[in-house]
Amino acid sequence: MNALTRWINSFLLIELLKGLVLTGRHLFARKITVQYPEERTPMSPRFRGKHALRRYQNGEERCIACKLCEAVCPALAITIESEERADGTRRTTRYDIDMTKCIFCGFCEEACPVDSIVETHDIDYHGERRGDLYYTKDRLLATGDKHETQIAAMKAADAKYR
Ligand code: SF4
Ligand code: SF4
Repeated sequence: MNALTRWINSFLLIELLKGLVLTGRHLFARKITVQYPEERTPMSPRFRGKHALRRYQNGEERCIACKLCEAVCPALAITIESEERADGTRRTTRYDIDMTKCIFCGFCEEACPVDSIVETHDIDYHGERRGDLYYTKDRLLATGDKHETQIAAMKAADAKYR
């Protein structure tokens, strides 16, 4: 664009008119704002949301404290401590996920040999302080208990594609 064209465009306020045309076009277009949480957008079946620890049907924790999830986590978001029980099995005494570090890559879920740690479709959580996003074992188990039906359905659907 040469200097004369630029001057004419500037004199006739062409750029301003272009902007107003664009604004006008959107003024009468169909509104696409989603009124969350009353309205939801479609969610992929592979969506990775809030983490959960699962139990077996008899209430026993699935996690065997193998620490594969902790080892594979690229964000170092998982902290596990464990001990041997009186019956000889190993279980975690501490299982924490720092959600402020987590990048929701899903590696922990992929690595788990007993389908214990999973990422649910739950997106309805937030934190007002840093500690609110520090998920302890109790909180993770509570999420698992709450969403077990949904998680089991997800796992069954997943199995079809493997
Ligand atoms: S989703 Fe990825 S970053 Fe988050 S805890 Fe699991 S392995 Fe770590
Ligand atoms: S959640 Fe799974 S991968 Fe992580 S320590 Fe427990 S059994 Fe191992």
